[in-house]
Amino acid sequence: MPSQPLSTSTVKAPKGFLPSELLLIETHRRIQIRPKQSAGAHPARGSNRKPRPRLSPSLQHRNWWWSSRDQSCGVSLSGRGNLIVEYPGSVPGKILSFVGMHMDVVTANPDEWEFDPFSLSIDGDKLRGRGTTDCHGHVALVTELMKRLGETKPALKSSVVAVFIAKLFDSRCWCGHAGLLDKLKSGPLFWIDTADKQPCIGTGGMIPWKLHFTGKLFHSGLAHKAINAMVLGMEGLKEIQSRFYRDFPPHPQEKVYGFATPSTMKPTQWSCKFLSNDFQMLCLLNSNRIFADPGGGINQIPGECTVSGDVRLTPFYDVKEVMKKLQEYVDDINTINLATRGPVSKYVLPDEDLRGRLTLSFDEASAGVACNLDSRGYHVLCNATKEVVGHVKPYSITGTLPLIRDLKDEGFDVQTSGYGLMATYHAKNEYCLLTDMCQGFDVFVRIISQLEQD
Ligand SMILES: [Zn+2]
Repeated sequence: MPSQPLSTSTVKAPKGFLPSELLLIETHRRIQIRPKQSAGAHPARGSNRKPRPRLSPSLQHRNWWWSSRDQSCGVSLSGRGNLIVEYPGSVPGKILSFVGMHMDVVTANPDEWEFDPFSLSIDGDKLRGRGTTDCHGHVALVTELMKRLGETKPALKSSVVAVFIAKLFDSRCWCGHAGLLDKLKSGPLFWIDTADKQPCIGTGGMIPWKLHFTGKLFHSGLAHKAINAMVLGMEGLKEIQSRFYRDFPPHPQEKVYGFATPSTMKPTQWSCKFLSNDFQMLCLLNSNRIFADPGGGINQIPGECTVSGDVRLTPFYDVKEVMKKLQEYVDDINTINLATRGPVSKYVLPDEDLRGRLTLSFDEASAGVACNLDSRGYHVLCNATKEVVGHVKPYSITGTLPLIRDLKDEGFDVQTSGYGLMATYHAKNEYCLLTDMCQGFDVFVRIISQLEQD
């Protein structure tokens, strides 16, 4: 049973004595993951291996809610298991939670790193290795917090819940779908998966799109008989982009939230197809090298072209509305006369009953989030950050964090923070700083303390 009031000194080890930091390193070391290298495999192959958290078999494929009050219960869902840990408080319904610390990591190619990505190494204040910033550092940090609560047993009115996520980008594994997190709605939920120690108050939505341009392949010396898919793509995309920026201009709220950029819509990849697959094969069989190059000859006007890109959308616009508008632009552009380039450039060949066409498709889109700046959760996070870090400067980015928009829409008071380094996020030679993580620990303790005073 809880027996002591909460203070930083009861939860954290006294100054000059560092078991807390050492435990953090030890926890961190334990969750570092090294992909198994099969004999003869190319070393770089390791970069594509799926990480394997060292969960006991009983924890796999289950979500576990562990509470020191009612012991444990498991709920089976498909995919890897999540871990939900609760330190119970005395007031029913009074709760705060730390969520978002995920156990999966991005890929790493050891050939490109200056140190081993798959084991923890310590260089002064630096904790180095894949996942140190995103997000094993946070798994270790919140593990340490819950461990300290369990050891020191402060008497708390609030229950403190930690949700460790097995696979962040696999929504099938998300324990929120099973209603397991519903009781967290009655208090602030701190999503711990950002960086730089400051509250991150806004994130962007993302709409991955693909535009296919169909023209007509022909000899470049007979340009009047071709529909140049590449030019159609350039002009079509230019029109789509100008309409997008007209309809979704910088939003006044972006200044309030400190977004570095407004919403953007841009191409990031493109490819051209010059010949039909059958024709390519024929050319290869005939060893006609000029035409056999799948990249096409310089003397060919391409008949097909594909451009892909994304929309990064600030949370003040609606993702579905943007997707609808983009489709409307494309439908309209397919009926109008786009600008041409030169006297024989054209998108219609009436004699052949041909018209160049744009076709739009989307991959799975996600929405951004604007945190509630009037909530208790936001204020305690800012106060704690100011006390521990020395200043508070909330920021927003059009990077995307999955799931948190859903949580906000479902009525959770979601706030986000993190104690790794943005500069090493998803980067080679990833590391975090032990002092930053320790500050994160103090921020969490102060958040709990402030909420006790309500
Ligand atoms: Zn992350």
